[in-house]
Amino acid sequence: MKNISVICPGSFDPVTLGHLDIITRASKMFDRVYVAALVNSSKNPSFSIEERMELMREAVKGLPNVEVVSFEGLLADYCRRNKIDAIVKGLRAVSDFEYEFQMAIANKRLNPQLETIFLTADSDSMYLSSSMVREIGRYGGDISNFVPECVHDRIVARLKENR
Ligand code: ADP
Repeated sequence: MKNISVICPGSFDPVTLGHLDIITRASKMFDRVYVAALVNSSKNPSFSIEERMELMREAVKGLPNVEVVSFEGLLADYCRRNKIDAIVKGLRAVSDFEYEFQMAIANKRLNPQLETIFLTADSDSMYLSSSMVREIGRYGGDISNFVPECVHDRIVARLKENR
């Protein structure tokens, strides 16, 4: 059988239970899952790239076939170089769809071997985003239902500093 590698790209600023749900489901379906924390020049992140990767590594430490990476440059090129078969993305609502569809087509043009697979968000986390976590955390609200337990305290402490 084919050995399938996929990649879950995102800002993960910070990781949420929504991200972890998609990554966990991907890890059950595919042989190898790369989680790529992206340096997005159009976003001004609250957590540094090192912090985002560290929090993600902690969150996925129970998933042996998942590896956290980061890189500069195009996702399509990274996938070609590393023999990654598909991008896996979570879709929360119709509002995510247009942007994601455009990205999927662009990536396919840049690397025709590369597929994009969409997983529907879990009903418990479909309203959840990193920006919501940042906003609630910054004002001292309870984010324990939104982020993985093992990184909760670090995220809370860090968001307080940003207040
Ligand atoms: P955010 O929108 O929270 O900043 P990212 O840009 O880090 O998220 O998203 C990375 C990937 O995770 C995208 O494919 C996005 O659709 C998916 N994702 C984000 N939040 C959720 C969620 N709550 N449920 C499912 N997928 C999600």
